[in-house]
Amino acid sequence: MSDGIRVVVIGAGMSGLAAAAALCRAGARVRVLEARGRVGGRALTRWLPDGTQLDLGAQWIGPTQDRMYALVAEHGLVTFASAAFGASTLLWGGARRPDPPAPVARVLGVLDEYAAAVDPAAPWEAHEAARWDATTLGCWLRATAGDTDTADYLGRLLAGGLLATGADEVSLLHLLFYLRGAGGTGPLLGMAGGAQQDRIVGGPPALAERMAAGLPPGTLRLGAAVHTIAQDAHGVTVCTGSGRVEGDAVVVALAPALAGRIRYDPPLPPLRDGLTQRMPMGSAWKVHAVYPEPFWRADGRSGVSTSSSGPLTETVDNSTPTSPRGVLTGFSYAGDAAALREMSPARRRECVREAFAAVVGPRAADPIALVEYDWSADEWTRGCFGGVLTPGAWRTYGPRLRTPVGRVHWAGTETATRWAGYLEGAVRAGERAAAEVLAS
Ligand SMILES: Cc1cc2nc3c(=O)[nH]c(=O)nc-3n(C[C@H](O)[C@H](O)[C@H](O)COP(=O)(O)OP(=O)(O)OC[C@H]3O[C@@H](n4cnc5c(N)ncnc54)[C@H](O)[C@@H]3O)c2cc1C
Repeated sequence: MSDGIRVVVIGAGMSGLAAAAALCRAGARVRVLEARGRVGGRALTRWLPDGTQLDLGAQWIGPTQDRMYALVAEHGLVTFASAAFGASTLLWGGARRPDPPAPVARVLGVLDEYAAAVDPAAPWEAHEAARWDATTLGCWLRATAGDTDTADYLGRLLAGGLLATGADEVSLLHLLFYLRGAGGTGPLLGMAGGAQQDRIVGGPPALAERMAAGLPPGTLRLGAAVHTIAQDAHGVTVCTGSGRVEGDAVVVALAPALAGRIRYDPPLPPLRDGLTQRMPMGSAWKVHAVYPEPFWRADGRSGVSTSSSGPLTETVDNSTPTSPRGVLTGFSYAGDAAALREMSPARRRECVREAFAAVVGPRAADPIALVEYDWSADEWTRGCFGGVLTPGAWRTYGPRLRTPVGRVHWAGTETATRWAGYLEGAVRAGERAAAEVLAS
C-alpha cells in the first residue's frame, strides 16, 4: 500500500530518524531535510583530546525505554551504567543534610496518585484537568508542601530537573502528564532503576549516526533548513534555501516552538498555530567539570547531589569507565540558568566551580576543563530539554499536539505519550507519525 508514497521528514533528530527508518522499511520514498550539518539534534557529544566522552545534550536511558534499548542493540552499540559510587549529597540552604524532610516523600506520593488519573494521550480529559491546568506547580507546592523551603526544593527538582522550567511557569497538569508518561516520580528521578540508569558508549549521537547511515543513499540532506511547507489536494512542497522537495505527506519532527517558525501555505489552523505559541522550550544550563580523576569517590561521595538553592540544582558523576578522568556535570534551570547566561564567562565559571566545591569539596574548584553548551542560543534548538505547555493551555490547545493538518503530520518528542521529552519519546513519536502517514 505504501509503495511509492513520497514522504518528506523535517529534522534528523532521533524522532525524524526513527520516522524515516519506519517509512523506508514500509517501502516509502523518503527525503529527510535537516538544518544542521549533523544528525542527532538535541544529542551532541564532544570528546576531549584524551578520549573523555562529554554528552552535552541527551545522555541517559533507563528501564521501560524499550525502543531506545532495542535501537542501541540493533545498531551494534552498548550501554554502560551511570557512575554511582558512595553517598549522594543533599544541600539544604547551603548546608548538608542527610535526608530530605518528610514532606518531600509525602508530596511525591500525592503527585504519583494524581498522575495515575491522567491519560498521557489526553490529559485534558482528566476529571480535575481544569483545576490542575489553571494551577501552577509552584502554587500547588506552596499550598501542599507545608513550608516554603520544601516547596522551593521540590519546585527545583520537578519543574527544573524534569522540565527545565520554573515551578511558576508550568501547570500541575503538565507535570502530571509528564509523570504518567514515564511511570511516576520514582522512575523519573532515579539513577539505577530510573531514567538516569545507563549511558551509551559513544553517546546518543553515535546511535543517530548509525540510524542515518542505515537509510537508503540520498535520503538525508544536511544543511537544509526548511522555511516553507505548502500543501494542496495533490501533495506537499517543502522549501529550503537551496531548493524544494515534493511529496505526498510531510512529517515535521521538531519541537512545536521550532515548527511554529516555519511558514505554512495555507496557514496553520488557529488552534494548531496557537499551540506552537504556547509551548516554549525549557531552559537548562548543563556544565561539565573535568578533573584528573574522580577524587570524590575516595571520600565516599558519589558526586550526585541536589540542592535547594544556588546556581546548580543537581550534579552527577559523569565519568566514564574507559577514561581515568573524573567528570562532574551540573544542571541549572530556568531563572538560575538565565542568571548564569547573563554573567561574564569568567564570573560564570567561578560561580559554577564554587557550586561543585560545595558538593565534593575544595578540589572541585580547580578543574582541568570546564565545558558548557548553551542550547538556548542554538538556532535549531532554542532551549531544552523540550517544549512545555504554558499553564491553562492543555485543555484548549493540547488536542492539537498530534492532530495532523491535512498532509502535515507531527512528530518530535513533545508529541509522545510515553516518555515525552526524552529520547525514547522522540523515537516513539517518530514511529507513531510514520504509522499515521502510512495509514492515511
Ligand atoms: C542538555 C540536554 C539534556 C538532555 N538529557 C536527556 C537525557 O539524559 N535522556 C533523554 O532521553 N533525553 C534527554 N534530553 C532530551 C532529548 O535530547 C530530546 O528529547 C530528544 O533528543 C528530542 O529529539 P527530537 O528528534 O524530537 O528533536 P530534536 O533532537 O530537536 O531534532 C529536531 C531536528 O530538527 C532540526 N531542525 C530544526 N528546525 C529545522 C528546520 N526548519 N528545517 C530542518 N531541520 C530543522 C534540528 O536541527 C534537529 O536536528 C536532553 C536534552 C538536552 C538538550
